[in-house]
Amino acid sequence: MKLPIYLDYHATSPVDPEVFKTMTPYFTEIFGNAASRNHEYGWTAEAAVEFARKQVADLIGASEKEIIFTSGATESNNLALQGVAEMYAEKGNHIITTPIEHKAILDTAHALEKKGFKIDYVPLDSYGRVIVAELAKMITDKTILVSVMFANNEVGTINPMAEIGKLCKERGVIFHTDAVQAVGKVPVDVNALGIDLLSLTAHKIYGPKGVAALYVRRKNPRVRLSAMMHGGGHEKGMRSGTLNVTGIVGLGKACEVAGRVMPIEMPKIKALRDRLWQKIQAELDEVFLNGHPTERLPNNLNVSFAYCEGESLMMGMKELAVSSGSACTSASLEPSYVLKALGVGEDLAHTSIRFSVGRFTTEEEIDFAAKKVIATVKKLRDLSPLYEMAKEGIDLKSVVWTGH
Ligand SMILES: *Cc1c(COP(=O)(O)O)cnc(C)c1O
Repeated sequence: MKLPIYLDYHATSPVDPEVFKTMTPYFTEIFGNAASRNHEYGWTAEAAVEFARKQVADLIGASEKEIIFTSGATESNNLALQGVAEMYAEKGNHIITTPIEHKAILDTAHALEKKGFKIDYVPLDSYGRVIVAELAKMITDKTILVSVMFANNEVGTINPMAEIGKLCKERGVIFHTDAVQAVGKVPVDVNALGIDLLSLTAHKIYGPKGVAALYVRRKNPRVRLSAMMHGGGHEKGMRSGTLNVTGIVGLGKACEVAGRVMPIEMPKIKALRDRLWQKIQAELDEVFLNGHPTERLPNNLNVSFAYCEGESLMMGMKELAVSSGSACTSASLEPSYVLKALGVGEDLAHTSIRFSVGRFTTEEEIDFAAKKVIATVKKLRDLSPLYEMAKEGIDLKSVVWTGH
């Protein structure tokens, strides 16, 4: 068993050996520019790109003509939002998204706001799911885009995608989803779900970093995007720049593998995730699951360990590579904006840990992780006067603190 144990698959994943093997020749022997039309080197590279385009499309039920390659989901998200905003500015200036999107959406939305677009954030339930009836009330004849993440990267909650897709269709609004965490983990079908634009990225599904795709619907409706990157007219003019052939081959292969193994892999991963949660619950009280109990990614576990400050928890279990519910800003520790939006109190948010299980996680690793978490929480609570008082039945809110 290699330490620290990697339980941070939401952040990134290693390249699958099968994917790596497929990519290897494209670094050295098959090095052509996919845009070189005059010789064999170019044709071979182009064929590889088109093969990968089909592999990506197949995973999400799209046609290969609807896939645009980009440098990351950050770029895909930027292209979706900015591309629609610019192209449809005459129709309206209203965009609706959620408060718990990835920063690649939120920061892009803020940038558009400065340019005069109106951004609204749809209310969520306490699990982080979009309340579709509220969304319906917010759509106006000025709304040009709804962008809702498929599954949240912190708490794993999955949105009611089909309902949102249906609503957007009825109201004639373009529907974009950041599906980075969902693709390869749960079945995704852009037609069944009424999705018009979809972002995905290779490095969250055992492909390489720095390569991704944006799905752009071609019929019912045909979505048009203004380009952000100009020069050469690659990718139907939507994203110029010499294609990252090696990376694209890796992304394609990663999608092919994901589609093939998902039915066997996901129940296994879910069982490991459930095993970890069951062990934690069996040994510890005052632990709270964040996100939806069932409508959640099979690989995600996000837990608040009351009375255990997240940073101390992380320090106490350095043998585990996990994420805490706090983000270090320059000077202070900010609780996660996602947990805050779900109504998790600041104190509890600071005690939260995100575990994410992946393709290479073993039962042995899960058992080790469970032991480590339980021991660390018990140790911290033994040192915590607050936990002791709470156990003695003292209402902490009624305590008058002296000193500072
Ligand atoms: C990781 C992630 C991104 C960013 O993807 P990159 O390819 O790293 O730019 C966007 N959205 C979500 C939900 C993510 O988890």
